[in-house]
Amino acid sequence: MLIPMLTRKSKNIPLELPRLGYGMMRLPTLEGSKIIDREKALPLVDRAMEAGINYFDTAYTYHGGDSEVFLGEALPGRYERDSYYLATKMPGSGLGSREKMEATFAQQMERLKTDYVDFYLLHAATREKFPYLDEVHEYFCELKTSGKIRYMGFSFHDWPENLEFMVDNYSWDFVMIQHNYVEDKSGRSGEMVEILKARGLPVFIMEPTRGGYLVNPPYEAASLLDEVRGDRSYASLAFRWLKEIDNVQLILSGMTTREILEENIATFEDETPQSEGEKAAIEKAVALFEEKNAVPCTDCRYCMPCPFGVQIPKIFEIYNWKKVHDEKTFRVIRSYFSFLKDGERGSDCQNCGACVKECPQRIAIPEELEKIDRFFVELRDEG
Ligand code: SF4
Ligand code: SF4
Repeated sequence: MLIPMLTRKSKNIPLELPRLGYGMMRLPTLEGSKIIDREKALPLVDRAMEAGINYFDTAYTYHGGDSEVFLGEALPGRYERDSYYLATKMPGSGLGSREKMEATFAQQMERLKTDYVDFYLLHAATREKFPYLDEVHEYFCELKTSGKIRYMGFSFHDWPENLEFMVDNYSWDFVMIQHNYVEDKSGRSGEMVEILKARGLPVFIMEPTRGGYLVNPPYEAASLLDEVRGDRSYASLAFRWLKEIDNVQLILSGMTTREILEENIATFEDETPQSEGEKAAIEKAVALFEEKNAVPCTDCRYCMPCPFGVQIPKIFEIYNWKKVHDEKTFRVIRSYFSFLKDGERGSDCQNCGACVKECPQRIAIPEELEKIDRFFVELRDEG
């Protein structure tokens, strides 16, 4: 039986898009690789389709390219082409050369086994990509005119001033930004929602739980949220907060397991609006989240691999776990010094800077690594 998923149309995109889209960058993988575990991932796609989550967001680079290949196996031939929406992204490496952009797009169509993409985005637009925008925009417009893409946009990881530049100088159908209740003010993402609203541009959301940070709140914030959440999960509070924003057409979630998928389906089928108590608790909890906020890493892994073997996101994960949950000292020391091998820790960073320009969170990675390594060494020596 088909279960209706809440949908939303916009003036620019008058399609019944589900409010929840499926992000294809965190699918289950085969042990020790980026290759998607088909046996586990295919039933997830089928369940999503059954529930009305028929928007799939991938990118040239997700799962080292296997995400697009997987979608090409999971959807065409198994579902009618007009029963789902495909979204993918032009990588930064294709920019600056028309031939390279054309070859990249052709490869994406081949991987996805389709002759058109519903939503095509410039991936992770930051000011470093501005020199290529004339060319990229012209190419996207041509793709749209020829029917190879239906709607064009960009995913954005920069400051509001640069967002204004992007939308005031080029025409787009939609924009994807990182937005959640913790980054609303501190990451200035709320300002970006307003900028896009003023220009009539629908907003698509990524990182709704800030890479999982809002799913496991620090103890103090959790206590506050527990007073209002009933049997809802912490993640569902984050989605409910976003669902209330009127120019947010679609919210992406990278659902790795059936459990997360089912929980999200329930959240998005629930039409009960946020209560005043819920809004107030979230507003108060933000300060507590920020107080504990160690390194704002979302585990997107754009910085990887480090040419020197440093396990950047893993180091941030161990450090954040210690800071946010006040994890037992011996456990984090063991994680840092035993689970991470020689050559993989913060002290092994050669300060080459390669990771910094890839990080959408604008984290000063080498500085943070140095600080964290010092922190763990001191912790171990004290113990
Ligand atoms: S700056 Fe350090 S962590 Fe970043 S890529 Fe270079 S060596 Fe690796
Ligand atoms: S450090 Fe930055 S690029 Fe690397 S995983 Fe974290 S957020 Fe992503």
